[in-house]
Amino acid sequence: MNKLKLLFRAPVILIILSAFFSLIGIGSAMPVDLSADNRKYMVLNQIESRGIKDRNVLNAMENVLRHEFVPGEIRELAYEDRPLPIGYGQTISQPYIVALMTELLKLDKESRVLEVGTGSGYQAAVLSEIAKEVYTVEIIKPLYEEASETLKDLGYTNIKTSHKDGYFGWEEHSPYDAIIVTCASEFIPPPLITQLKLGGVMCIPVGPPFKVQQLVLVKKEKDGDIKTNIITFVRFVPLTRTGD
Ligand code: SAH
Repeated sequence: MNKLKLLFRAPVILIILSAFFSLIGIGSAMPVDLSADNRKYMVLNQIESRGIKDRNVLNAMENVLRHEFVPGEIRELAYEDRPLPIGYGQTISQPYIVALMTELLKLDKESRVLEVGTGSGYQAAVLSEIAKEVYTVEIIKPLYEEASETLKDLGYTNIKTSHKDGYFGWEEHSPYDAIIVTCASEFIPPPLITQLKLGGVMCIPVGPPFKVQQLVLVKKEKDGDIKTNIITFVRFVPLTRTGD
């Protein structure tokens, strides 16, 4: 190659090199955000591949910035196929379980949902992408405060949070089209059945604390009859009571 050709090619090579370095994050102050790709990959490989079909659920899982809901030190693990610790002995569920429970609730844009166990706020955010209103309650005050802050910072305006014992639901806004309990209870709390609309559904892990539990889908029929279906086996942190 003669010198003249090299001279003409130099700027082109420089542009390519600088694009490459900025892509891998060298030389730019901003970290590269690969989270959208991570979410696409997560939805494809962990969620669709296991049989979740509801387009609204898949879109919600792709939209919600899961990494914003996990502690900074483990943020790079946010899109892995596993639950993660969120402090105070609690966990954010594995993405697939979040998607499965959300799909079971059969939400639409008119739905009003109650969640027991706000934790990080992630499940509430996923619900709120589909439903009209989400009410979520958390028994551990610092978690309630952190989740409320995260949800506010991310601009979720259709989620209301409260610091209370979810065993009693949140009567003020009842009845609900759907209830999701993200902590395991040894039995279905009767106040939650009362606060479910006729025709409504509830998804709840039922079983002993710190052991395998059954994920139960509860349907309150139009005539008030209660039907239950065991969906799968899960391991959730326990539903605790005030003063536990
Ligand atoms: N849905 C959460 C994960 C929840 S972990 C998320 O997306 O991150 C279960 C949560 O239930 C914990 O935060 C725990 O403190 C809360 N919890 C346990 N017992 C409760 C009760 N009686 N009322 C409300 N929240 C409760």
